[in-house]
Amino acid sequence: MSISSKLVHNFSAGPSALPKKVIEIIKTDFPNWNQSGMSIIEVSHRSKEFVGVALQAEKNLRKLLNIPDNYHVLFLQGGASLQFSMIPMNLSKSNSSVDYAITGSWGKMAVAEAKKFTKVNIVCDSCASGYTSIINEKEWIKSEEADYVHITSNETIAGVEYHFDPETNGVPLVTDASSTLLSRSLDVDRYGLIYAGAQKNIGPAGLTIVIIKNSLIKNNKAKIPALLDYRNYLEKQSMYNTPPVFSWYVAGLVFEYLINLGGLEVVENINIKKSNLLYDFIDRSDLYSNPVEKSCRSRMNVPFLLKDKDLENTFLIDSLNAGLANLKGHRSVGGMRASIYNAIEVEAVQDLISFMKDFEQKYG
Ligand SMILES: *Cc1c(COP(=O)(O)O)cnc(C)c1O
Repeated sequence: MSISSKLVHNFSAGPSALPKKVIEIIKTDFPNWNQSGMSIIEVSHRSKEFVGVALQAEKNLRKLLNIPDNYHVLFLQGGASLQFSMIPMNLSKSNSSVDYAITGSWGKMAVAEAKKFTKVNIVCDSCASGYTSIINEKEWIKSEEADYVHITSNETIAGVEYHFDPETNGVPLVTDASSTLLSRSLDVDRYGLIYAGAQKNIGPAGLTIVIIKNSLIKNNKAKIPALLDYRNYLEKQSMYNTPPVFSWYVAGLVFEYLINLGGLEVVENINIKKSNLLYDFIDRSDLYSNPVEKSCRSRMNVPFLLKDKDLENTFLIDSLNAGLANLKGHRSVGGMRASIYNAIEVEAVQDLISFMKDFEQKYG
């Protein structure tokens, strides 16, 4: 059966599914956006209309995350990966060091980049567990005086998520929240800087959100290339140069959609329900397994292995034929991975489980 003629459940890790309602709005409004006779990707980013979209998006994001007034919200480009460089460039001072907690691949990439700019101290590295755990905070070996402590809220590849905010005793806490931002409520004021590439829970790739405490920008004295300097984006309302207008616009639609759903507490409860359904099923089955310690299992990315590796290809072909797309695990860890971001509905997870059940009966 061809899948091209029907809609699928898209379990991609990123770029990933957007809410169907948002896709509908884009489709309807695209050719003649705001009665302008043009689409939104053809109008000036400095036009009154687009600036309105930009401001409303920020307002709605602030509302969703309850962002305090002493934080700035920046709409940047370059993905989360560019933040791996921008953060040490902007926040590290000379003759000091920065602290990084490594819980998986993305954290390692962040460290590799930070090392180019400053002295990096690794406070913990769960490599010994094969990145299936988070080392107890009490055992972290912190610097005497770090400029910041960096964590990865959710390691998208191995599916390891912090379900607590580490205590840094006044040292700014920085987090790569690419695959968890907007999936649950968050105490923004526990953090100095929160960043996320948009293509997981926020909108199309090309946009990166940075939420930063005012004092961290103000104290910056470093000489930094203009496009990598937070101060320039702050001064110019994130329009130092042409911003990714389409991604920004779609992110705004997603924020509005989440507010209409009832906000992040409602979203979080749905995500808890979805991930519990899937993990409970995997834990009960004889064919599938998830190696991650229960206390830090990701609600967004659920990797799982099949007992018999030879069944992997059949699983991928059969699942796609059943309308369940993009279940292949990341090439670095193998196996399968179901990314169940906000736009994945409970029914999609139920469909996945019922497919997995049938598959186990047939081949397990
Ligand atoms: C996807 C992802 C990245 C990389 O994002 P880009 O926008 O492609 O740079 C970094 N960190 C985490 C946790 C991710 O999930």
